[in-house]
Amino acid sequence: MTGLYIHVPFCAVKCPYCDFYSGPYRRETAQRYVEAVIRNLTAYRIGDTVDTVYFGGGTPSLLSTAQIGSILETAAPCLSGDAEITLECNPTGERGDYFRALRRIGVNRLSVGTQSFSDKLLRLIGRRHTAQQGIRCVEAAFAAGFENISCDLMLALPQQSSALLAETIGVLTHLPITHVSAYLLQVEEGTDLSQDAALLAQCPDEDTAAALYLQAVSALEAAGFAQYEVSSFARPGYESRHNLKYWHCEPYLGIGPGAHSCFAGRRFCVPRSLERFMAAPRQEEELLDSAPCDAQERLMLGLRLRYGVAEGALSDAAKRKLPPLLKAGYIERREDRIALTARGFAVSNAVIGMLLG
Ligand code: SF4
Repeated sequence: MTGLYIHVPFCAVKCPYCDFYSGPYRRETAQRYVEAVIRNLTAYRIGDTVDTVYFGGGTPSLLSTAQIGSILETAAPCLSGDAEITLECNPTGERGDYFRALRRIGVNRLSVGTQSFSDKLLRLIGRRHTAQQGIRCVEAAFAAGFENISCDLMLALPQQSSALLAETIGVLTHLPITHVSAYLLQVEEGTDLSQDAALLAQCPDEDTAAALYLQAVSALEAAGFAQYEVSSFARPGYESRHNLKYWHCEPYLGIGPGAHSCFAGRRFCVPRSLERFMAAPRQEEELLDSAPCDAQERLMLGLRLRYGVAEGALSDAAKRKLPPLLKAGYIERREDRIALTARGFAVSNAVIGMLLG
């Protein structure tokens, strides 16, 4: 089965830490963009095996439900009856009518960019919404019929203390949600944050960031959200089917400027230019890998999952590196499988690099 990712490259305001491809929203441009997405949906031979659609961005909730509906209508012949259809939205404004209309056109999962429930921290990282708006957004979505809602939670924010994180998780876990994506703030080159020495000086150091991450893991698990991937937590049965495709090396097609794909045996990305995307009859593709998903890549992606990988799939060299990682508690052995522990996930790049490098 295939995943379909639609990258919506518009944001009301650019957040200072954000490296995703997005620019200002303009009504006429958004309509031209939607037409280009529709053109691409018909230009690709997608088949009829799409079981997940993910509108990411950017801020997909800036599009009207008529625009999202026209994209879904075009994709309909490719979709399986039980497709998971996710839309990312930002928690600004009262949007009950919008959410009800989204349900009517078939969107059945929302990913809400709550990030934190501390107004102080939201302001510090340049978010335009308040904690109350985040709460009201989730409650309005639930009241509109969304029973599968994910919230984003950012960790290692400037001035984020253990007490502030505990407060935020307390609010988060009492909301009617099924999934949490918890990310450590990354300082990406070229962003406004990377130039802001005063704010960077207020970010936790690596050890504190790892402690905040471990605090989030145990608080979320205690509230019934099982960790199934480095950054992903879900109530039973609510793991993101779309995101699991990335880690299972299953095919997905990304449409839109900056979108990535692993489709038809190739890994490629679309140039980060809205104008070029809208002008082309079919989006340009920059080839990244003509033979993706080899054994090494499957291991690397599989180790991001709590389920881990079969020990037998590791090379002899990797097997020789296991004992110290097991002893230090970064990795655990479950029957014939090897998986990172929460402690290992806190430094996952280093552990996976050490094991497979
Ligand atoms: S973090 Fe989200 S809302 Fe902020 S600029 Fe990036 S994509 Fe837009």
